[in-house]
Amino acid sequence: MEISRRDFLKYAIASAATLGLSGTQFARIERIMAGATSPPILWLSGAACTGCSVSLLNAVNPTIDQVLLNTISLKYHSTLMAAAGDLAVTAARSTAQAGGHILVVEGAVTTASNGRYCYVWDENGQPVTIAEAVNSLAATASYIIAVGTCAAYGGIPAAYPYTSALGVGAFLRRPVVNLPGCPAHPDWIIGSLVQLLSGTIPALDSHGRPLVYYKPKVIHERCPRKEAEEAGHFGQDGLCLEELGCKGPDTHADCDLRLWNNRQNWCIGVNGLCIGCTEPNFPAFPLHATSEEEEEEEPVPTATPRPTATPTPTSTPQPVAPSYHVYLPYIRKGR
Ligand code: SF4
Ligand code: SF4
Repeated sequence: MEISRRDFLKYAIASAATLGLSGTQFARIERIMAGATSPPILWLSGAACTGCSVSLLNAVNPTIDQVLLNTISLKYHSTLMAAAGDLAVTAARSTAQAGGHILVVEGAVTTASNGRYCYVWDENGQPVTIAEAVNSLAATASYIIAVGTCAAYGGIPAAYPYTSALGVGAFLRRPVVNLPGCPAHPDWIIGSLVQLLSGTIPALDSHGRPLVYYKPKVIHERCPRKEAEEAGHFGQDGLCLEELGCKGPDTHADCDLRLWNNRQNWCIGVNGLCIGCTEPNFPAFPLHATSEEEEEEEPVPTATPRPTATPTPTSTPQPVAPSYHVYLPYIRKGR
């Protein structure tokens, strides 16, 4: 199925429909997005799995990439853009030089060893780190969005101490719009982009998340299984998963209302528990454990609490030790 530019505009406006924008703002969005002068977007990929890009691509159908490039003036995205090499880097640099763009960062910013754990491109024969790229492209940006939990708070890369991975806001030491999730829901990305394109910043909670998507009330408060008896094991339809380790009681997101995969279902709806993927402390190990197992579990060494300041770069390469410790409790228990 082909998606037209108009279809995408409709989807984008619908994603923003819950934002409470006024009629004038909607008209302005439509005008901006339909026009040739739509503010450009630069999308950098740091330490991550590219899952948030995949989530965005799943928003409508696989042909969304061309629509994205044509409709929201996506000037740089290492996975989606057709250009490569110097041409692609020049597009990013000239866009940043003109200023007024929206910088989207997917993935954490690695800071150990002068950032050498994550390169984004080569320039003048030298590799450029995600840290350098974020610093320079953020300098002239109108808005900065951290897409996914890795970009927002460090996420999985920051759960291990070796690369000193930081969320974008902590790295830049300035507020950014955080859209955590592992991955982020496509509506959260498109809806927030649309609102920023309209020139307004969404109302944010204390962790920088748009309140319209990351609800003040936790998932557990609205969960259809709230009054149900506890499941003793996986695969029991309709039962509460708290004893199996569900983190719905501590998680702020609208997955239960919005659903995933084109409004098909959500984690708890398919008997998978909520692992709290939108929270600043994600991933909290163990991801799955009954309360009894959690009491028995030996503490797992991780990098938490997460650093909030940029560590001083060091020129001495840090040894990278294997991080098998995270999996040991599961291996020990024969999982
Ligand atoms: S399944 Fe999770 S979110 Fe739903 S009621 Fe049980 S603990 Fe709460
Ligand atoms: S239900 Fe929980 S784990 Fe699943 S996507 Fe939503 S916040 Fe993440």
